[in-house]
Amino acid sequence: MAENHQVIIIGGGLSGLATAHFLRKQEPNLDLLILEGGKRPGGAVRSFKNEGFLGEWGPHGFLDNNPESRELLHDLGLDKQAQRAPLGKFLRYVCHRGQLVALPQSPQQLISTPLLSPLGKLRLLADLWKKPVLSEQNIGQWAAHRFGREVLPLVDAAVTGTFAGDYQRLSMDAVMPGVRNLEKEAGSLLRGLRRKKKAPGNKKTGHLPSMLSFPQGMEHLIHTLVKEMPLQTESKVRGISHQHGQWRLESNDKVFTTPTLIVALPINGALPLLTPLIPPPATKVPEAKIVNVLLGFSKQVKIPYGFGYLAPERENRFALGAMFSTHMFPGRAPEGKVLIEVLVGGRRHPERLELNDDELIAKILADLGELLPLNEPPCFSKVLRPSGGIPQMEVGGHLQLLDWRHLCEQEHPGLHLNGFGWDGIGMNDMIKAAKKTATTILAGNKGQQEEAPVKPVYF
Ligand SMILES: Cc1cc2nc3c(=O)[nH]c(=O)nc-3n(C[C@H](O)[C@H](O)[C@H](O)COP(=O)(O)OP(=O)(O)OC[C@H]3O[C@@H](n4cnc5c(N)ncnc54)[C@H](O)[C@@H]3O)c2cc1C
Repeated sequence: MAENHQVIIIGGGLSGLATAHFLRKQEPNLDLLILEGGKRPGGAVRSFKNEGFLGEWGPHGFLDNNPESRELLHDLGLDKQAQRAPLGKFLRYVCHRGQLVALPQSPQQLISTPLLSPLGKLRLLADLWKKPVLSEQNIGQWAAHRFGREVLPLVDAAVTGTFAGDYQRLSMDAVMPGVRNLEKEAGSLLRGLRRKKKAPGNKKTGHLPSMLSFPQGMEHLIHTLVKEMPLQTESKVRGISHQHGQWRLESNDKVFTTPTLIVALPINGALPLLTPLIPPPATKVPEAKIVNVLLGFSKQVKIPYGFGYLAPERENRFALGAMFSTHMFPGRAPEGKVLIEVLVGGRRHPERLELNDDELIAKILADLGELLPLNEPPCFSKVLRPSGGIPQMEVGGHLQLLDWRHLCEQEHPGLHLNGFGWDGIGMNDMIKAAKKTATTILAGNKGQQEEAPVKPVYF
């Protein structure tokens, strides 16, 4: 006998849980079930605690500038519990010619920064005269055309800090459709941003957002979301089919049916399930895998004040960058100790993930030792190897996959697709998409075409 529910969500990660939250907020009696393949919900969001140190397998935080995420935190009563690290207060560093240089935080600092030459700074303004290129571009091509080649190491750092990706492969049109629209409409990004700022109804906050986490770590969000959620773990869905307005799902030895199916999976988890419906233009997207290495030191080690640093590829460093975790979020190390978390691998260096823990730590210490005053060995170390990677929205494939997703949803009413790597990769992207899915379903599956948001870049 098949088990029937009004709504079934495949995937108990942030996307699935947030979608369920927004649905149940409006319809508390909705008969809904979440099927999670793993032993625990939360997917990539997972915290690590040992010997008084607190680190993260996956996300370290998200910015508090997304209305849907603010709503979620408010609903869960988490807005007051959150720890906030304001971008305006904390320095962020880029590795530049073998040294850590603070990123400019204001136009005045941009004028004096050594990260760009005087000509490079002037070249930024050429954006006002550069005609938009209409065809799909990678992020590097786009940035060089608009702002000049000198900005590329900074662009590289930004892309490394978000996608652990390659700016010469990621599609500007897929990653930042809102920015591309603005540029095409106004003929220049700077002009478009100025117009947008002046537009009626545009709320001026006047300050930079904050990075947000919780004293218990990011997984606290999952633990709170999951309370009283109808969720079955160890229920991996192996196949779906659609007949007579009903979806049929096969999971272990059970069969489920529903008229409304939400596939809230990372894109590479969704593609095999969806392939029998309509063959996709690609069966897999590239991923960037990383390891996160936690290193604890005594407070004698003077870590520069700030969030951490990122290293562009041309610097030839071993690590992609590091977070100065105890500066950002106090309480992540025992009394008298500091914690830094170092990221290695990414789209361009998967081979580094093959190293064993001791080799990794030795190479990291040699690398960081040239950038930070590490004058003693670490008192604590732990290598975290997340099983999943970060999906990459690359040129020559991702836009076609988005068109195909649209076709699947059109051809199969009652099917909704959100999750890691479709419209974005950040937690705010997941929560935004979750709210949109819930709103569409509650409006009788009538989704509204929304303008792509202009996402600001902070790294
Ligand atoms: C290493 C790393 C670092 C990150 N850092 C940041 C950061 O600092 N800030 C930020 O905003 N974002 C960050 N992210 C991205 C963030 O983690 C994701 O946006 C978010 O976790 C995606 O949620 P999801 O539910 O879509 O996917 P997932 O978290 O992958 O969850 C999907 C769930 O579906 C389950 N599942 C898979 N297949 C099936 C199936 N067939 N049947 C049933 N269940 C299934 C999985 O077990 C999993 O629990 C990071 C991601 C990674 C990997």
